Amino acid sequence: MAELNPFKIAQAQLDEAAKHLGLDKGTHEMLRWPMRELHVTIPVKMDDGTTKVFKGFRVQYNDARGPTKGGIRWHPGETIDTVRALAAWMTWKTSVVDIPYGGSKGGIICNPKEMSDGEKERLARGYIRSIGTFIGPKKDIPAPDVYTTPQIMTWMMDEYSNITRYNTPGMITGKPPIVGGSLGRGDATARGGMYTLREAAKIKGIDLSKATVAVQGYGNAGQYAHGLIEELFGSKVVAISDSRGGIYNRDGLNFDECVKIKLDTGKVSNIKGDAISNEELMELDVDILIPAALENVLTEENANNVKASISVELANGPTTPEADIILHKNGCYVIPDFLANAGGVTVSYFEWVQNETGYYWPLERVHKELDEHMTKAFHAVHDMREKKGVHNRLAAYLVAVKRVVDVMKLRGWV
Ligand code: GLU
Repeated sequence: MAELNPFKIAQAQLDEAAKHLGLDKGTHEMLRWPMRELHVTIPVKMDDGTTKVFKGFRVQYNDARGPTKGGIRWHPGETIDTVRALAAWMTWKTSVVDIPYGGSKGGIICNPKEMSDGEKERLARGYIRSIGTFIGPKKDIPAPDVYTTPQIMTWMMDEYSNITRYNTPGMITGKPPIVGGSLGRGDATARGGMYTLREAAKIKGIDLSKATVAVQGYGNAGQYAHGLIEELFGSKVVAISDSRGGIYNRDGLNFDECVKIKLDTGKVSNIKGDAISNEELMELDVDILIPAALENVLTEENANNVKASISVELANGPTTPEADIILHKNGCYVIPDFLANAGGVTVSYFEWVQNETGYYWPLERVHKELDEHMTKAFHAVHDMREKKGVHNRLAAYLVAVKRVVDVMKLRGWV
């Protein structure tokens, strides 16, 4: 089994890109490591009167192109290396969609499913007190990610504003619109992915109105992807899953019903259809596969069994380097994570622009500008693939890394 440490994978991906770009040793080394990272220990008063101590991280990977930007994950399996990898991927993500940011990521080791709202609020505020001097609207701007929500962003914004003594909405994105969030941020990750899928389908000659779809992961990105792929293209979602398993129905899964059952019962396995495992879902005979959960679900073990023509990676890091090569060889068009899921951070950028200027945009403008950013980024990557004859992830790396390197050179860093 190849190495599944996400940071080792991120470094290996970069190494490959550095080779193709002919980077000198110093420049390459600079990009292999985070510029800064902070480890914090956060005490939280729990509802039963005890104090529980949580470990958290904030990693600022590279800020050559602007303030660092990246979400905060709350996950029991969080590690510093996962956060480092995700911070690196944010650097390439903001670069590939060409928004003026660097990349960062935060994480707290915790299980939000076992915490009350009060405990979550105290953890959110404690984390911001711990990292308060490290972040800021011109420095490093957090956002939601796995198991963090607009409500959690609001508590964090409020805590930070208590520290600065004035309202500072631009210190974090993914807030609800009534506290300075942007319209269209909720479904932005999935919507951005749909715009790239539309372009990929044209290239592959796939009629999306007749396409079948499997969605792995039914959190924010997965749920919105289910609704949007039906609404925008009329495709049919035949399988969905969450961490506890999945469901398959060849006649199609009704979106409203699925979301309601997931919300009411917490599990997609309660939906009508045939029970399938997450592993089986990846190998279904569908046109479009949407990994929308966690890392390393497509590996050298199962990549040869994937039948989908296009994989839209709404998750971060779902495909290992070995699997990338297999999928490319087998003709599966992979829209790589930091391109496919860049819609979230792109609308986060719009949110931050609105916070900093105090002028708020209508939804149509958000959708239009998101489409423009995603379509342009998609074609920059596709053109690179054609020019260099490489797989899509490597093409995306070549586009993104080159932009960061050009700025580092111009600034005199390397
Ligand atoms: N956490 C999301 C991502 O991985 C969004 C980041 C942001 O909006 O800053 O892209």
